[in-house]
Amino acid sequence: MNSELWEKIDNEIPLTKEDIVTLLALSDPVEMESLFKRADLIRKKYVGDDVHLRGLIEFSNICRKGCYYCGIRSGNTEIQRYRMPGEEIILAANMAASFGYKTIVLQSGEDPYYTVDILAALIKEIKRESHVAITLSIGEREREEYQKLFDAGADRFLLRFETSNPDLYKSLHPDSDFQHRMQSLIWLREIGFQVGSGVMIGLPGQTLEDLAMDILKFKELELDMIGVGPYISHPDTPLAGSASGDADITLKVVALTRIVTRNTHIPATTALATLRPSDGREKALQVGANVVMPNVTPLKYRELYELYPDKICVNEAADQCNNCIRQRIYSVGRTISSGHGHSLKTGQNGV
Ligand code: SAH
Ligand code: SF4
Repeated sequence: MNSELWEKIDNEIPLTKEDIVTLLALSDPVEMESLFKRADLIRKKYVGDDVHLRGLIEFSNICRKGCYYCGIRSGNTEIQRYRMPGEEIILAANMAASFGYKTIVLQSGEDPYYTVDILAALIKEIKRESHVAITLSIGEREREEYQKLFDAGADRFLLRFETSNPDLYKSLHPDSDFQHRMQSLIWLREIGFQVGSGVMIGLPGQTLEDLAMDILKFKELELDMIGVGPYISHPDTPLAGSASGDADITLKVVALTRIVTRNTHIPATTALATLRPSDGREKALQVGANVVMPNVTPLKYRELYELYPDKICVNEAADQCNNCIRQRIYSVGRTISSGHGHSLKTGQNGV
């Protein structure tokens, strides 16, 4: 490959779409390693060695939507559905806090049972009992609802745009509108949330150009957090039998996301670890990631939250996940943050 691109990265000159496509297409292991090393240096320079732990509570697998890739889509009659009662959610949050996690992530399908009032009461109670930051990942709502959730004390919101290609988005979402998704991200930012988004890698029909545009979109949106993970094909969805994403391309996207966006929080995703259970998280941490999300969902619900098959850690209790993840982080020479790990972007919340 042309050394001009390495110079661009080393001199922190913005990459063009064409540059990113060239880098995503690298297949020579030595060149890939050069990309990864550079991403790791930029990670160290902009976010340091600390890894932030965010305790994940998957509190409902009931969803009104039918995203074609997702195992808990409304049309899947093969799974048993659950909703965690409020007391169980609070217990899980307290357990996360007792492990030293400074953030909890409340994630679910788009479940209308959890009205804004119910969620607001939960947020307040969790904040009263432990001083954790709260991230919501509950799908799309209207602007007033986001505002109420923020007013109740939620700090952050994760809403992946899944792909920046509107046609590809449309082909995967029978009942979601690309513009509304993008508008939601703008509302969340206006309201004052620290905003996270992201995409899946290896979606059926997705090209390297699409991924390059995704990475440039991350920068344009000035996101505080960016989650990128492989698409993993689920047998009980309309996309059954399609190929899953690839670990190497995912790592290249993680690396380029770090290089292009510099100081965002980037998780080593569970989906990547599912493709590479032995070292997926460690590899992600070595090519730009600085966040890990240990699962604190009660064991009885774990395997029911099956966005994709063969999800790892469905049989490990929260304390086992805690120990396992800490060891993995230390094994790659990194430290664990004792702070909340708020956004590092200047002029935004929680700096
Ligand atoms: N309902 C909320 C949050 C839960 S889904 C929402 O959609 O925002 C969280 C994320 O899981 C989605 O954004 C999507 O990127 C990811 N996901 C869903 N199905 C997947 C699959 N088959 N493979 C990999 N990731 C998947
Ligand atoms: Fe529901 Fe989210 Fe799955 Fe779409 S991705 S079906 S909104 S849980």
